[in-house]
Amino acid sequence: METMPRRKRIALIAHDNCKLEMLEWARFNKGTLAAHELHATGTTGTLLAEELGLDVHRFLSGPLGGDQQVGAAIAESRIDFLVFFWDPLEPQPHDVDVKALLRIAVVCNVPTACNRATADFILSSPLTDREYERPTGAYSEAVSPDMAATSVL
Ligand code: PGA
Repeated sequence: METMPRRKRIALIAHDNCKLEMLEWARFNKGTLAAHELHATGTTGTLLAEELGLDVHRFLSGPLGGDQQVGAAIAESRIDFLVFFWDPLEPQPHDVDVKALLRIAVVCNVPTACNRATADFILSSPLTDREYERPTGAYSEAVSPDMAATSVL
């Protein structure tokens, strides 16, 4: 189990063709987002900080390693949910990073919204404003004892 705090650490990422949609969604939900801790990949974070006038912790730009940093933060329980508007119509130079990020989010059972409606449902959930014990064990038996031992170090 992992305790998700009341003030959620939210990671926000939008591919270039989806950035406008992310900004519109964030503007609409500014009041709610202001109560949480915001993290984002480089360009998305710069745009969101300007748009919202809120502090946004910025990772590197996605294609330059930002998606991998977000994935590492998820694996280390430093992110509570992910809003990732990835572009379904255009291949990205960092497709492998995108896939890895989505994979680790599932492995860690982190709520993940890949479109606006899902992001709305997550953000308006009563669970978003309170502590939540997130089960994390679903895949722990899928790894070898050696790997499991490494993961608790
Ligand atoms: P960006 O990265 O916010 O730096 O544009 C997003 C991405 O392409 O993963």
